[in-house]
Amino acid sequence: MKTKILVVEDEKDISDLISYNLNKEGFEVSVSADGEDALRAIRREKFDLVILDLMLPGMHGLELCRTIKSSEETSSIRVIILTAKNEEVDKVLGLEMGADDYVTKPFSPRELMARVRAVLRRTQEKPAAEKILRIGSLEINTDTYQVLKRGAVIKLSATEFKLLLYLLQRKGRVFGRDMLLNAVWKDEAFVEPGRLTSISGG
Ligand code: CA
Repeated sequence: MKTKILVVEDEKDISDLISYNLNKEGFEVSVSADGEDALRAIRREKFDLVILDLMLPGMHGLELCRTIKSSEETSSIRVIILTAKNEEVDKVLGLEMGADDYVTKPFSPRELMARVRAVLRRTQEKPAAEKILRIGSLEINTDTYQVLKRGAVIKLSATEFKLLLYLLQRKGRVFGRDMLLNAVWKDEAFVEPGRLTSISGG
């Protein structure tokens, strides 16, 4: 699927220039001339990135940026803001509102495309880590090592936790004893023969 980018810019010459270059790079591009229209577009379809001019008629670009970044459904959309030259305050505010990067006007299309690629690459390198694993009535937090069953905490040793996690992440597969020993206990020097049975039985 193509990466979808929304360009929010009221000056047609500029949005045309940006669209032309994004298209050339192989992106799918939509254009909104104001913040309200942009919000409607964002709620209607899924965008990967928004290139956002701050000086817009109606809703200010910073307000739109804050709206995008504060809603759970849209907060993962990357935002690059376009600011007027020397508007230091706008840059700082934009980044505080969650913008991922900024480009100052006037900009070269080449520079903007480089920023777009860099921001998208950053996103792809850091996929949101799945910290809560839910299977049936079990909830496993891989960050805090907490296991809940129907909301109640189940106490497990570190090894038991590793074994549970290993099996759940490979649900439906069958493992031989040696495979499990190697995967879960490989750091330990010696394993008693009875130990594995007692854990898997419990
Ligand atoms: Ca403008």
